[in-house]
Amino acid sequence: MRSKKSKKLEPVPDAEPLLLTPGPLTTSGRVKQAMLHDYGSRDKRFIELNRGVCDKLLSLCDADRTHLCIPLQGSGSFAVEAMLANQLPREGKLLNLVNGAYGHRVTEICRYLGRQVSVLETAEHQPVDLAALDRALAADAGITHVAVVYCETTSGIMNPLAQVAQVVAAHGRKLLIDAMSAFGALPLSAADIPFAALAASANKCLESVPGLGFVIAEQATFAATAGNAHSLSLDLYQQWRYMNDTGQWRFTPPTHCLLALHEALQQLAEEGGVTARRRRYQDNCRTLVQGMRELGFETLLPDNLQAPIIVTFLLPEPEAFSFEEFYRRLHDKGFVIYPGKLTQQDSFRIGCIGHVTPEQMAAAVSAVAQVLRELRR
Ligand SMILES: *Cc1c(COP(=O)(O)O)cnc(C)c1O
Repeated sequence: MRSKKSKKLEPVPDAEPLLLTPGPLTTSGRVKQAMLHDYGSRDKRFIELNRGVCDKLLSLCDADRTHLCIPLQGSGSFAVEAMLANQLPREGKLLNLVNGAYGHRVTEICRYLGRQVSVLETAEHQPVDLAALDRALAADAGITHVAVVYCETTSGIMNPLAQVAQVVAAHGRKLLIDAMSAFGALPLSAADIPFAALAASANKCLESVPGLGFVIAEQATFAATAGNAHSLSLDLYQQWRYMNDTGQWRFTPPTHCLLALHEALQQLAEEGGVTARRRRYQDNCRTLVQGMRELGFETLLPDNLQAPIIVTFLLPEPEAFSFEEFYRRLHDKGFVIYPGKLTQQDSFRIGCIGHVTPEQMAAAVSAVAQVLRELRR
């Protein structure tokens, strides 16, 4: 372990602006370097590396003995869609807990899949409602599964995953988690959170490049999911079966993405694992929020609901303040931020994740201060 020494992150080449967004994110030079190989899909080195990556992903959530890891080509939404298609039987019914755009996406996916879905929605600045969940499950015995977004990246709110899992388990239903912007940083252990499946991707808190997602699915019930999928390329059961039988991916594997993810997982271990990564993100988040508040910005969320992943700031003086102008000037100073995704209020978002240090977050705040001075001139 080189955890002490690796506290200082290796610098990213200066020419590239820092991506303070929900992804793609700034990755380390090491992760980018790792992609400089062309592996064939049947190459023994690739097969071993692939297996190692899947094992490592399982161990990050203490699921080695209970769950399977099925990687999939594509962005995170491909993995969410594949998870829903695989886990929900055609006669199943999903109760979907929604407090943002990614929750709504789950509903939309169910419509495409032709799966029954009912929605329990709370406002974008409020966590999902545990009492309402309890009542809904008691009232409808037809609900087979519940879906929740762990960190709803729309606002940056952290949903109470452990409590949701408890309620769902108490009613004997199955839990599906969109852990996209949480996996690798927020606490998530199969040892204390019963879940049927979760979906996540390589390019958020794992700090690798975009191009692949993965689903972690309960072993005991996985065989029964055969035939559920509506789609050839998103059929997770077949994806798993082929990989289990041959060690290879079913269709062209994103070999370079796997090489990058392998390196990123090594880097995560050297940093000190999930806990150390969460601490750095918390430091990033604290530096950002304190600095921005000193400049007069307000956060959408109170600190106790804020995940250290991405922060929504309300746009001050909306009439005097154009996001486009703000964005462009910050970009020219080397920082890429993100527009807000709220439906109710004008806002913008700044991410705390990626290969980024608290010092760089402080530099981002200074750049914001500079832009404000320019805009007020
Ligand atoms: C990023 C993200 C996704 C997937 O989005 P893609 O653009 O398809 O990668 C899904 N859910 C959440 C909560 C996310 O943050």
